[in-house]
Amino acid sequence: MALTGPPEAIPGREDPPDRSPAARTRLSTVFAILAISPLMRLAALRYAVPPGLPSRSGCDACGAPVGLTHPWPALGPAARCGQCGARVGPPPATVELVVLAAAVLLALAGPPGGALPALIWWLGWTIPAIIVDLAVHRLPDRLTVPAAAGTWLLLGVAALDADPGHWLRAVIGGAGLAFFFASTAVLLGRRGFGLGDAKMALSVGALLGWYGWPVLLFGLVLTFGLSALVSLGLLATRRANWSTHLPFGPFLLLGTTAALLLTT
Ligand SMILES: [Zn+2]
Repeated sequence: MALTGPPEAIPGREDPPDRSPAARTRLSTVFAILAISPLMRLAALRYAVPPGLPSRSGCDACGAPVGLTHPWPALGPAARCGQCGARVGPPPATVELVVLAAAVLLALAGPPGGALPALIWWLGWTIPAIIVDLAVHRLPDRLTVPAAAGTWLLLGVAALDADPGHWLRAVIGGAGLAFFFASTAVLLGRRGFGLGDAKMALSVGALLGWYGWPVLLFGLVLTFGLSALVSLGLLATRRANWSTHLPFGPFLLLGTTAALLLTT
């Protein structure tokens, strides 16, 4: 009788699912990202005000404060003021659905390796920034600058364990793309990109550049392609004309995420 054969399955009892450390990390990532969605809702609510106005600190209808000391129900998916019941901040469930989609996509098909913390950090700041951009056509420095600083720093940490060429490409990609966007803002004025887009490009270029020049190029092709498609669609349906200024941040987010999911 062989003593070294595999143990026979015991009827009625299933083996526990084989969860590799990587799978566990991804699962905890999903929960960590979902847990910070009220903070992202707070950021979007606070900065979705036209340029020049102070950031929002409470309910527009009754003035009841909304913040970390008064989070519910205003910072939950219902997005209602706890005092008067008026809607506060981004539409109900929008932030949460975007965050959930990003978390699930990351868990299922996110890029491997040490750059994952940088990507999560970037999404944490960039998702609220995009919601602000869609609402009031601006990408606030208070969101894009920490997004870029943390992305560069976390990629620097990841580079300690990786080929230093990754970090060099990330720095050149981020700085180069930001310089290109900023120069169109200076040279073309309103017909060029905004300075907010340029600050967002600092982190977008770095993340895409980390994974290689082809990924950076692919991300830009997707970003500009999506933006062109949506613009043409809006023109064709007469919901926009040639002088309409579309926010560009959402296309940067979609193009970057899609490029990373498809190529890494
Ligand atoms: Zn209220």
